Amino acid sequence: MASSVDFESLRPSPADVRVVTSDGSTIAAHSSVLASASPVLERMIEVSARIRILGASPDAVAAFLRFLYSPREATAGEWGEAAMAAHGAALLALAHAHRVPWLKRRAEEDVAASLTADRAVDALKLARLCDAPRLYLWCVRLAGKDLAAVELSEGWRFAGRHDAALQVDLLRLLHDADQRKKRWERERASQDVYRQLSDAMASLDRAFTEASPCDDDGSGACTARQGIVQLVRHLAGCGNKGGGGGGCPHCKRIFQLLRLHSSVCDRTEPCRVPLCSNLKTKMQAEKVDKTWRLLVKKVARAGVMATLDNREVPEIVKRSWAKYNSGGSRSRAARFR
Ligand SMILES: [Zn+2]
Ligand SMILES: [Zn+2]
Repeated sequence: MASSVDFESLRPSPADVRVVTSDGSTIAAHSSVLASASPVLERMIEVSARIRILGASPDAVAAFLRFLYSPREATAGEWGEAAMAAHGAALLALAHAHRVPWLKRRAEEDVAASLTADRAVDALKLARLCDAPRLYLWCVRLAGKDLAAVELSEGWRFAGRHDAALQVDLLRLLHDADQRKKRWERERASQDVYRQLSDAMASLDRAFTEASPCDDDGSGACTARQGIVQLVRHLAGCGNKGGGGGGCPHCKRIFQLLRLHSSVCDRTEPCRVPLCSNLKTKMQAEKVDKTWRLLVKKVARAGVMATLDNREVPEIVKRSWAKYNSGGSRSRAARFR
């Protein structure tokens, strides 16, 4: 029982406040401890030496007070672990209501760590009431992973009967997360395309500007180069070009690559890539459209990113990466989980 908790013995001075709990039992405690731990309790004690802490079971209130007496137990010790496991949600609410931030953080972590799909809706409600954003995020993530299990939970059914707004909120968050994921996947797929185009630009450049014969180093660069040379030869000899390489798909492809090259080519001296200067003049005269300008910008950016990815990493950076990957990353990862 809560009333049997002996806080009196924890301090040399006699207990001078009584904490009344929801079942009417009282706990003797020290005003100095409570007031220094919580500004809310401090104000209550200024008004009366008999204060009420309701809205949680007497055992949870006793655990809350014990944490205020010995904060260290929140981070170390078996008792702290057991109390968090038994009263985590109540402790989060009590710490929030009485403005004890360190205990609120600890309880939030604990509730999040032991979260299961069947309790996700209750925890979401708690997170909203207690302004606990990390717990909120955890609930949404868990619901996203296993919505079917969440929908089977008592919390979900209860929300359907009494708090439909909560269900709508959760579904909207899941929908937004899903949209974000799809957008990200689309973005990644288009980045791959820009990267491939940028590689094609590099091959085109090498094929016509490097004087040395192709030394196949096994990277496939030589094959790509030969392919491009063949395509350009085809363009020169094809009888089905049409306007801008319109008729033949091969011609169309190489024509667009040459056009893209002349858009990204910044040589001041005459360029040896076929049609480069002609296309430059033509595009300046005709003014290219917005979509093409955006494409050019993205391909150029992909080229810069590829250069950065392929550059030689300084030894000092390599060493710190190795250190990061071997040592502290596990605890860092655990912190972020
Ligand atoms: Zn053709
Ligand atoms: Zn050029």
